[in-house]
Amino acid sequence: MATVVFDFDSTLVPVESLEEVLRACDLDEDRLRWVEEITRRGMEGELDFRASLESRLAIAAPTREAVRAAGQDLAERLTPGAQACIAELRAGGHQVRIVSGGFRDVILPAARVLGLDAAHVHAVSAHWTPDGAFASLVEDGFVESKVAGAGALHPEWPRPVIAVGDGATDMALARAGIADHFVAFTEHVRRRFLDDAEVPEARSMDELRTLLAGLVTPSDD
Ligand SMILES: [Mg+2]
Repeated sequence: MATVVFDFDSTLVPVESLEEVLRACDLDEDRLRWVEEITRRGMEGELDFRASLESRLAIAAPTREAVRAAGQDLAERLTPGAQACIAELRAGGHQVRIVSGGFRDVILPAARVLGLDAAHVHAVSAHWTPDGAFASLVEDGFVESKVAGAGALHPEWPRPVIAVGDGATDMALARAGIADHFVAFTEHVRRRFLDDAEVPEARSMDELRTLLAGLVTPSDD
């Protein structure tokens, strides 16, 4: 039995979920451009994850309603083949988890469609006011990084652990020893860090299924 840890944004769905949430917040052109600039600086490593997230939330504090609406929308826009890939892994006795830098509430509807337990979705959580306005981020490891968040959880995960995603933050799970293998998923976006990283790459869920079959060990139970 192995554990396959999926990234969410630009992996299980074709877009970045926080962008979808903020788009649902009716930003004017100036604020939208500002948010996009901060996103770009984060992707290029000029801003750390927490600074990037907090800056964008300060410009556009999302409502709980916008988060839920974006979540429902994304549950209907899964990457083609994601459901079949995850169903096959689970049928083989493997554990499937999501580790994301997005809002957990945005991911949960998609996780339900994918047949995943909510307890296997690890991401950023928010506190909301009683009328559904954004109050603050929950101070756990996930507001710092995926490595900080998953670092406290992974001792419980069946090994080998295989991380799948489009980002350097997903590869970092393997570099930190949280995952034993990393597979880059590049159907939606192929980032520059991969040019120097000698890692297996899947350009579709079909290719991913083939690669994963060679990395998960056969299950006896
Ligand atoms: Mg991603």
